Order: sequence, then structure tokens, then C-alpha cells
Amino acid sequence: MSAEPKLINPSEIKISQTKMLIDGKWVDSASGKTFETINPATGEVIAHVAEGDREDVDRAVRAARKAFEEGPWRKMSARERGRCLYRLADLIEKHFDELAALETLNNGKPINESRSADLPLTIECYRYYAGWADKIEGKTIPINGPFFTYTRHEPVGVVGQIIPWNFPLLMQAWKWGPALAAGCTIVLKPAEQTPLTALRVGELALEAGIPEGVVNIVPGFGETAGAAVAEHMDIDKVAFTGSTEVGKLIMQAAGRSNLKRVTLELGGKSPNIVFADSDLDAALEGAFQGLFFNQGQCCCAGSRLFVEKNVYDDFAQKLVERSRKQVVGDPFDPKTTQGPQVSQEQFDKIMDYIRSGKEQGAKLLTGGNRVGSRGFFIEPTIFADVGEDMKIAREEIFGPVLSMIPFKDVDEVIARGNRTMYGLAAAVWTKDINKAHRLAAELKAGTVWINCYDVFDTAAPFGGFKMSGIGRELGSYALENYTEVKTVTVAL
Ligand code: NAP
Ligand code: MG
Repeated sequence: MSAEPKLINPSEIKISQTKMLIDGKWVDSASGKTFETINPATGEVIAHVAEGDREDVDRAVRAARKAFEEGPWRKMSARERGRCLYRLADLIEKHFDELAALETLNNGKPINESRSADLPLTIECYRYYAGWADKIEGKTIPINGPFFTYTRHEPVGVVGQIIPWNFPLLMQAWKWGPALAAGCTIVLKPAEQTPLTALRVGELALEAGIPEGVVNIVPGFGETAGAAVAEHMDIDKVAFTGSTEVGKLIMQAAGRSNLKRVTLELGGKSPNIVFADSDLDAALEGAFQGLFFNQGQCCCAGSRLFVEKNVYDDFAQKLVERSRKQVVGDPFDPKTTQGPQVSQEQFDKIMDYIRSGKEQGAKLLTGGNRVGSRGFFIEPTIFADVGEDMKIAREEIFGPVLSMIPFKDVDEVIARGNRTMYGLAAAVWTKDINKAHRLAAELKAGTVWINCYDVFDTAAPFGGFKMSGIGRELGSYALENYTEVKTVTVAL
């Protein structure tokens, strides 16, 4: 890792892998088909990647099953499994510059953010779960009678993992870390928009000594490769991150097939609540970053900004001023703070939401337009006086569009904050400790940040209430997603 990022010329970034990883080998898809992966800053094709479908998923599942039942992974000590994960973390660190550049190339996120957030969090995540591998323990349980009863926490088996494009490396780490620590084997389907870093990490996983067949990667489309994972009769568990709409399909597919275990990390419409008695400068930065970080493409984005009425106008004006400091442009320029949206599809969808906000009568304070003529760049956009029935207040926009809503008192803002089908995250800005804890208890969300936003740590669980998901990722909680509890009773 070099101290200072050098200005990178995208055409010099090495693409070492575009095939799929099955049973430790890099192979073409059964159909021979490939798909284009795009640089969102220019709209140009970066590479053609093997397009997996049902048959490839099937092959990958067979490899994962064999590796689970017969391979060295099963016989390896838990501590040695942990060492594989430590080595993977070390290799990612060794290739820090390369992976950060590749992530920025394929996703469009500013290079500074790839380097300061995605890469460090990814490395931490693998190290954290490396440490867990030999600490997954059962219990001894005092039951009635002359018996000795204990539990074993065994790996759930072959797991299918379907991830999105907003944090490609990190979402792979959130999925692979706990699954590998628990001793599972994996079939991963990366998002069609961002397959490149997943494939590179696949190469590093082999180099780290993770045995063949333990991690398999099948790039491809959701409707084909993704659906094949969700429906597969020999996948024991599926973990999905993405839209609530597709989350429902995953659950239905599991129900129709083999009742595989399902965990879902879905969308959000998180309330970010600013009281007049808060440190307003900190709240302003929290409100800004809480939405605009990662081009607004965060499941936990603070997209409903509730601001107490008596400071609302002033806050709105300062937010507009803050948005002028956002540097939108070439993601490889270290000064850039906002890159392009990930795809034409996302760009179009966000522009539709902006149109709908205007049509439904929200007040556009700033932004609302495309930036430049190529790539998928959108101005930081702020709407004020957003009515709660408007589409932009109800639906996940997943772009740089902030909706401001004024409120008067605590009870009102709790009720309004909870008035959503989602429940992923929430934040409260106040110096009143009683009020802060009351809101923390009453807001229906998997994470509540008090006087901060987007503070993530691999040890702290993350996941959704309501339609934001099922289960928790990260921390020790995530291990439960990848283990089955077995009760053993011995007559004494
Ligand atoms: P998406 O369709 O939910 O994609 C997430 C993952 O699921 C991708 O790997 C996708 O494959 C796959 N997938 C799609 N349809 C599938 C199916 N029928 N069966 C199995 N897997 C399937 O998300 P998107 O289309 O990229 O984005 C749409 C919206 O989802 C965004 O605007 C945003 O609101 C939300 N989203 C949320 C998150 C999050 O972190 N919670 C992340 C991304 C998007 P493909 O790549 O081929 O589609
Ligand atoms: Mg989709």
C-alpha cells in the first residue's frame, strides 16, 4: 500500500480475471457467453466477463458440495481455517492499491473512498472472522435424568451468496468471512455491474490456500444465475443483499425448493433526525455524509432528513452551501468526493425520482441535473418540504437525493420516523441524553446512531427490522447464519 494515491490512468489497470471460478479452476461459462462490464465514469466497456447460468451454478454447487463433504476443508482444524482467512486478508492488503483502483474502475466510487473505507473495512472483516474460526463453541446443558447433553455448532453446508454492486469487495467480505470461519463452502454470485474485484479476490483466496471448491464464483445476471442459486435443491442456505423486491423472490424460491435457510439484507428509507439542541455543525456534516456518501448508494442512507422546525430553514440553507463543496467528477482524481452512479439503469431511475419530486410539489433547493455529457453523474440534490406521501419520501432512491422534512416534537418525529415499511437504520442528533435513548428505544431500526452516522465496525451487528431484512450480518451474530445447532444427548 502506497501512502499517497497516484493519479491512475484507468487503461493501465490490470484485469487479471474475467472467467468464473469453479472447483479451483478458472473456466468459461457452459454456454460460452460473456457480458460486458462498464466503467460508469465513461460508459465504456472495461472487459467481457463469463456469463454464468443455471448449468454453471449447478457445476459450482457440485464442486462446493464435494469440497464440503469430502475435501480437506472439512478435515482441517478450525485454527487452520482461520489461518487461511488471515492469509487472504494479508494478500488483499498486499494488493491494496490494485484492488482499490479496480473497485473504483468498476463501481465509480471515488478512489479516496475505496482506499479509506472499502479496502480497510474489507481487510478488517476477514481478519475479524479469521479470529472467530476456532472460537465457535457449543454448550453443555443440564437436562433431567442421567444424561449428558451438549450442542455442536456445525457449518450449515453449501451456501449461496448473492451480492450487490454498491460495496462489492465489502459485501463479499461480509458474506465470505463468517461463512468460511464456520466451515461452509460457497457459491457466490456478484452483481452484474461489478464482478471484477470479486474475481480478483477469488484468485487471492486460492493463493491463500483455501482449498479448491470451497469458494466458487459465478458471475452473471440475477434472473438467471441468481435465480438458479435461490432455487437450487442442494444449496443449504442463501444469503442475499439487494432490493426488497428481489429479497421477496429469494424467499419465495427457497420456499418452493428445499426450504434453504434465508438471510436478507435489503433496502431502507432511514430517518436521520436533527434536534435544535444538537451540535448543529456535526449534525450538518452527518446529514450530508449520511446521504451523499457513496453517491447515495447505501442501503442505510439517511434519506429522510427530519429537522426540528425552529432550525429547519437555517439548516436547509447550510446544507445547500455544503453541497456546493462536493466535488463531482473523475473518480480517480483524489480530490473527487462524488463519482458517477453505477449504471445507466440506476442513473435513469434516480432522474425519474427527481422528476417525481418536482411534480409532486417538493421544493428543489439545489441540484437535480446530470453533470457532464458522459458517464452517469448526477448533481447532489436536495428537496425541502417533502410530503410524507410523496414517492421520494417513501421509496428507496439509492442516489444523491436528500429529502428534508420539518418536525415539531419528539412524539411526532418518532411516529413519523417509523412510518415506513423499512427499518434498517436511523440516527438522532441531540445533546439531551434522555431524549437520545428514548428515540434509540422507540425507532424501529436495526441500527440507531446517536450523534454520528455510518459508523460501521465488523464486530457490530447490522441488519433490518421489517422489510429491510431478516437476520444480522457482522459480529458474532453473523455466525448464526452459517451454523446449525446439533443437540447430542448421551445416557450416563
Ligand atoms: P437487485 O436486483 O436487488 O440486485 C442485487 C443482487 O441480486 C444482484 O447480484 C442481482 O443480480 C441479484 N438478483 C437480481 N434479480 C434476482 C433474482 N430474480 N434472483 C436472484 N438474484 C437476483 O438490485 P439492483 O437491480 O442492482 O438495484 C435496484 C435497487 O435495489 C436499487 O435502486 C436499490 O434501491 C436497491 N439496492 C439495495 C442494495 C442494498 O445494499 N440493500 C444494494 C443494491 C441495490 P444482477 O446484478 O444481475 O441484477
Ligand atoms: Mg436488479
